[in-house]
Amino acid sequence: MSEQKQSIIDIAKGFEGGQPKNPDAPRNPMKANVPEQTLVQDQLNGLLENIDTNKMWVEFNLPSKGKPYVNYEKDSIFLRAMKFSDEKRLQKALVGDRSKDALNVVLAGCVKGIDYGQLTLPDKLYVMFKIRQLSYGKDYPINTTCKGCGTKNELIYDLTKMSLDFMDETYQEHCTVDLPDSEKTAYISPIRAKHEESLPSPERIMEALPSFITRIDNVSEEMVIKRFLEQTTIKDVNTLKSAIFNPKYGMDQAHKYNCDFCNVQNDVNIGLNENFFTTS
Ligand SMILES: [Zn+2]
Repeated sequence: MSEQKQSIIDIAKGFEGGQPKNPDAPRNPMKANVPEQTLVQDQLNGLLENIDTNKMWVEFNLPSKGKPYVNYEKDSIFLRAMKFSDEKRLQKALVGDRSKDALNVVLAGCVKGIDYGQLTLPDKLYVMFKIRQLSYGKDYPINTTCKGCGTKNELIYDLTKMSLDFMDETYQEHCTVDLPDSEKTAYISPIRAKHEESLPSPERIMEALPSFITRIDNVSEEMVIKRFLEQTTIKDVNTLKSAIFNPKYGMDQAHKYNCDFCNVQNDVNIGLNENFFTTS
């Protein structure tokens, strides 16, 4: 027993003997003149040497083919995965009431080439799903209830197999819409991510309609356009409404599956759910 005690003391002494005589002296004299901050950055760079930030950017074809972006010559965009610090920021914001702002800031940092606020809504949705794919992998869990038997099904949707509708080749600076009854041509501008916050609630969405109509034939006077919308047919207005609020391009969100229990075929919408920013 006393031998054991002795050996522990020996070990402790061994440590003492190994300590530098002057504890204030730098442990590595080679680095004595390197400023602290540079040293931290060098060490960090060493640890991150295999995380090539250029390699983090992955190119994706945009559903809009880049057409709605002024002076944007490409049909694709570069995206990167979220970093751990991004996720931490999101999780922190989720408990507060500014979660949407935090989400937009994080996502904007994962996009290169186009300003995030300029993205049209179909492009934005696609970009969000691709950032999700890069960050957490291709498997996206969706919880859904069978319309036939009420059984809860957990689907795993493969984000790499998402099908896309691309924007019409004819799109120029503005999208044109032929109105069926008045036989006039409307020129509309797309809703972008930056407009989302100020869009009215679904039941008052009609109020926002004129702000996305640039002109009808050669009339661009807002008051005239408003009066026109009030007095033309429902069919004309609905045509405009769907061209502006439901543009015909973007990710195909309609998905079919057969129930695990009764095999009835169900439709499910591939949208943002509670699993969006979590690892499956
Ligand atoms: Zn079922």
